[in-house]
Amino acid sequence: MEDARVQGFEFSLINEYFTELERQGPGSAEETLRALSFVDLPSLTRIADLGCGTGAQTMVLAQYTDASITALDLYAGSIDKLNSEVAKRCLQNRVKGIVGSMGELPFEDEELDLIWSEGAISNIGFEKGLRYWRRFLRKGGYVAVTYESWFTEERPAEIEKWWMDAVPEISTIARNVSLMQKAGYVPVATFTLPESCWTDNYFAPQEARREEFLQQHAGEKAVEDMMSFMKREADLYERHKEHYGYAFYIGKKL
Ligand code: SAH
Repeated sequence: MEDARVQGFEFSLINEYFTELERQGPGSAEETLRALSFVDLPSLTRIADLGCGTGAQTMVLAQYTDASITALDLYAGSIDKLNSEVAKRCLQNRVKGIVGSMGELPFEDEELDLIWSEGAISNIGFEKGLRYWRRFLRKGGYVAVTYESWFTEERPAEIEKWWMDAVPEISTIARNVSLMQKAGYVPVATFTLPESCWTDNYFAPQEARREEFLQQHAGEKAVEDMMSFMKREADLYERHKEHYGYAFYIGKKL
């Protein structure tokens, strides 16, 4: 898996860049909690956090539930960091990071009460992920994901092209809610993430990191290209943010 590519860049290089940051995608503790408020908390004993990265949202779930949590990511470096944080917080008895694929889950059918996934489901596909993950949830269990979504019906060609290359399945919230329903969940709630989840929590911390990463990899063309791509992502957001963003989708298994 180490040499897999995401948007033309080496998976391991992208993760080396992002793992030093607190978050690897747009989000915030407040929005994680808002999503959690739609879930029946006392019923939670087993949670899986898929594509957990270094675990920003995992720690919020650990703080606000009593459940045991398995946090899974393909990138071992992120899991190591997550498990150090788990040890620091003395949560080893109920929180564990494991290396694995969200497309090949190591759980039993109906084992989980809640599947969480922030900024990661596009790696398997929104519809495909929701359909595949469903069997691991007990009846009445929940799924909660953030996913890139169009906020408007029509978009400038520049941003349409960017997202068609990055996440060809990107769609409107209305259509995604319908896909969730068809995949066998009652759509319980959906809401959009505020801009600060992108600007303050995702793009701003990358500014210094880009400089540092360029220095660490001086003369490497692949890294220069990747850093231009990351900068462009931030510039495009500034110009076109009324057209897209992340939405949280919370569903309950029927
Ligand atoms: N949830 C974190 C990380 C989001 S970035 C946050 O919001 O901060 C997306 C993560 O998905 C990365 O850590 C990447 O390594 C992971 N990932 C990509 N493809 C994956 C797959 N097939 N299975 C599991 N994790 C995957």
